[in-house]
Amino acid sequence: MIVAPAIFSVLFGLAFGSFLNVCISRLPRHESIVHPGSRCPACMRPIVPGDNLPLLSWILLGGRCRNCGWRIPWRYPLVELAMAALFLLSCLIFGVTVEGVGVAILCFLLLGLSVMDAETMLLPDSFTLPGIALGIVYSGLRGGWRAGLLACAYALAAAAIILLIRGAYLLVRKQEGMGLGDAKLLALIAAWLGPWQTLLALFLGVIAAALFGVLWMARKDRSGFRKLRLPFGSFLGAAAIYVVFEGEPILKWYFQFFR
Ligand SMILES: [Zn+2]
Repeated sequence: MIVAPAIFSVLFGLAFGSFLNVCISRLPRHESIVHPGSRCPACMRPIVPGDNLPLLSWILLGGRCRNCGWRIPWRYPLVELAMAALFLLSCLIFGVTVEGVGVAILCFLLLGLSVMDAETMLLPDSFTLPGIALGIVYSGLRGGWRAGLLACAYALAAAAIILLIRGAYLLVRKQEGMGLGDAKLLALIAAWLGPWQTLLALFLGVIAAALFGVLWMARKDRSGFRKLRLPFGSFLGAAAIYVVFEGEPILKWYFQFFR
């Protein structure tokens, strides 16, 4: 029966989404994720456990701090909802297997990094580096030690690709296009997903970022566009989440032309 695991995956997703919100708020500022406990950023009052339930508390409190009425950003309920949806998808598509649990962990990392990059333009090492290590372990668990070694090689190659693009951009435009965080994020994706899905995620991420840039340019005047810095990691992370679930059919369709 898939009903019980599905319900559990939603509850786990909400809980992990709530924890992810803490990581997103604190890690880019190098703050501890355990101490101090949850506080309202506006009035600094500790949040009582009853007001700290994922999603439910936000609805019951009308999206405001009980003490000072500070409006809780939409990001909080949205991340919790997205995490629940992604955990449920992992469970329904991959089942309660090494792959299903692995995909859920990968979604946690990718969603967190996407939101952090969008909010702060930072992809913290405290998420990317353990993420790479977990990806290597995951590949090893699924395919043996050879697969683990290969995952290391894919991660290094992926980082090298971003560093090359970054170097070329620096030479031509004399400014930073992609950050070192982007290199570590692509390495993470490669350790988990292997070369083909990683290339697909990179391709889709670049397309999405370019599309966003063009739409932005159409909305604003051109001078605004020059100053626009896109959080490329957000597009790359979102593309990778898409590829986790939809990458296989797309790659199958693509490879049929080479048979
Ligand atoms: Zn408050």
